[in-house]
Amino acid sequence: MSIDRSTPQLGSLFQELILDHYKRPRNRGELEGANAEAHLNNPTCGDEVRLQLRVVDGVIEDVRFVGDGCSISQSSVSMMTQSIKGKTLDEARALARLFTAMMHGDADAARDKTLGDLRVLAGVSKFPVRVKCALLGWNALDEALKGDVA
Ligand code: ZN
Repeated sequence: MSIDRSTPQLGSLFQELILDHYKRPRNRGELEGANAEAHLNNPTCGDEVRLQLRVVDGVIEDVRFVGDGCSISQSSVSMMTQSIKGKTLDEARALARLFTAMMHGDADAARDKTLGDLRVLAGVSKFPVRVKCALLGWNALDEALKGDVA
């Protein structure tokens, strides 16, 4: 499997991590007992993500996704599921805000260590068309956590 041609050249660590998550997505599949979910797509690129969460006492106990699309969209959502699992809703929302700020070119957000591996995606902010790909999973998270979640 090769990375799609439209993927920006953003360095080898970026390529490695993206490919790794694209080939072996984490937390992929259906989630039993999900109590929050969202299904979003990014028509510009043809990406699709359905995110399911099981939230218990304000903590994201488990998360799964199914999706289709470019390597950036799918690897970004895979990385996201890893980083939000076990987090409180407030922590997950704070991560989503940081990641979104980073994608909009905020240098302070890009240096914030709480983002962990996700910071590898910072370079995507230079490619506006791909920003939508990288944000798809996070927008789905935002959508899923709207309203009353346990
Ligand atoms: Zn895409």
